[in-house]
Amino acid sequence: MTDELVNVSDLNQFQYCPRRYWYLHFFDTQGRNYQRVEGKTRHENQATRGDWVNELYLESESIGLKGKIDVLDLEDGRKVPVERKRARSGEYHWNDEVQIAGYCLLLEDHIGEPVHEGAIYLYETDQRMHVPITQDHRNAVKDTIEDMRSMSPDSVPSLVDNPNKCEKCSTREYCMPAETAQLEPERAQGTGWEDHI
Ligand code: SF4
Repeated sequence: MTDELVNVSDLNQFQYCPRRYWYLHFFDTQGRNYQRVEGKTRHENQATRGDWVNELYLESESIGLKGKIDVLDLEDGRKVPVERKRARSGEYHWNDEVQIAGYCLLLEDHIGEPVHEGAIYLYETDQRMHVPITQDHRNAVKDTIEDMRSMSPDSVPSLVDNPNKCEKCSTREYCMPAETAQLEPERAQGTGWEDHI
């Protein structure tokens, strides 16, 4: 489709559900203006306080990513990207780990040395979760970028394989999973939406 840089936060959206990312990317269902948001972040929002850097914008042609690290923790000589998340349950998921891995790869590229650790801060429960970055994370980032770049406007992905995800999905009104299962049963095969056919 394109070789444009992928937003790290969109790695998370795609991992959650490729169909959800397709709607967000091609239909702009949330009215986001990427250029304006990123430009503001890049030029105005970076600040350093003690051992912390707030809102560090990075991009890399070689990796194919761009994005803003919420907080970079520099304590004890380490460099740990921290991503804030809303999660009342006190849990985070694989899609969140892939996102923080994307920030670690961007930071590696920026500083020219390995970054083996990220962190997720769950602000509703005030928990900071340590995320060691593995080869599986690195592979997932690379594969997801390739999958995202191969998407096209005329080919909407199938329904997600866990209907529970659809309960919380903001693009549900566009996706209409139950109606899709009725009208396009081939898109529901193996997804758990067969019950709605
Ligand atoms: S409603 Fe379900 S299948 Fe549709 S985009 Fe959202 S998560 Fe994916």
